[in-house]
Amino acid sequence: MRRAIYPGSFDPATLGHLDIITRAAKLFDEVLVVVMTNVKKKNNYAFTVEERVDFLERCTKNLENVKVDSYNGLLAEYAKKVDAVAVVKGLRAVSDFEDEFQQSLTNKKLNPDLETVFLTADADSMFLSSSVVKQVCSLGGDVYDFVPEEISEDIIKKLRNT
Ligand code: ADP
Repeated sequence: MRRAIYPGSFDPATLGHLDIITRAAKLFDEVLVVVMTNVKKKNNYAFTVEERVDFLERCTKNLENVKVDSYNGLLAEYAKKVDAVAVVKGLRAVSDFEDEFQQSLTNKKLNPDLETVFLTADADSMFLSSSVVKQVCSLGGDVYDFVPEEISEDIIKKLRNT
């Protein structure tokens, strides 16, 4: 079985993330979406790990070969533990590239069997990020076009109350 992992903060999951998950699920036998803590962002998370996992589970429930997990540690080690052949990453713009390229080379050094597969963002969600969702929502804007329907109300409720 060819298993891929799709790591990220998913704070919260957006339609851009869901697009990458859906497309990766067609390429691999199983996609394991992994909620991780990004050291650069860890003090700015709006949602707990449990909430982020729950949101992802709810919006991927119709994708049979997609599972959700969380992990706090080295991605290369996690990949070995779950026997993954690839890490999937979404690329929105050139600005994503440098950091992702560096992470990919580091993971390859730590785990030479691990490939990184980059999927280009859909043209409609190139602009979309979890930060955009948080910003627009907390200022009272409409985010229904940005996040999966199953979780939109919970996202709005939490972000408008904080
Ligand atoms: P991180 O904290 O690791 O940057 P994110 O949750 O922001 O985690 O992103 C996780 C992954 O999803 C990254 O590979 C990122 O490039 C990708 N991604 C984020 N938003 C989009 C989008 N709108 N379209 C495609 N890929 C995206």
